[in-house]
Amino acid sequence: QPLVGVLALQGDVREHAAALAECDVRVQLVRRPEEIAALDGIVLPGGESTTMSRLLETFELLEPLRARIAAGLPAYGSCAGMIMLAAKVLDGRPDQHQLGGIDMIVRRNAFGRQVDSFEEDLDFTGVDGGPLHAVFIRAPWVESVSPEVEVLATVPDTPTAGAAAGRIVAVRQQSVLATAFHPELTGDGRVHRLFTQMVRAS
Ligand code: GLN
Repeated sequence: QPLVGVLALQGDVREHAAALAECDVRVQLVRRPEEIAALDGIVLPGGESTTMSRLLETFELLEPLRARIAAGLPAYGSCAGMIMLAAKVLDGRPDQHQLGGIDMIVRRNAFGRQVDSFEEDLDFTGVDGGPLHAVFIRAPWVESVSPEVEVLATVPDTPTAGAAAGRIVAVRQQSVLATAFHPELTGDGRVHRLFTQMVRAS
């Protein structure tokens, strides 16, 4: 079974670990640089990207993780994790670091200007079995992507979505996946299964 890490410095680590445990993989909580070499994939949880960035530096995980992701380690980030995987962040803190992995620009707290959180049913490319219920909590959205990035989901045009309609909220570039929302909170394992399939295929 592949070994999938969950970055365990901050955020909803337990929820991701529980979702992965249903996907026939071994799960490793990652807090130390020595734990990175053995991983077949890494999940970056939701939380607070500025804090995660600071802790990644303090725990000396920033460079080794960045290097492994650049070398093709499959990675999945939800919400704050999506922010960490972006090449560039808008409305971030000036000292905020990126792991990179997806050639996209993400706007932090993008929905926050309208509402702190909201929920929508999304069509998600690569996920079968009908729409995915997506929970957004002070979420980013993807402002723009380069041509190598595949858009997997956008916000539908509904009354609750308002000005967020059409915004990109799930993307993939090769074996790196990111969602602006939190599938780890809804008990729907389909996004984690997609990611663990990507881990197995890589
Ligand atoms: N607003 C948070 C950030 O900027 C992300 C929120 C989340 O992960 N639920 O990192």
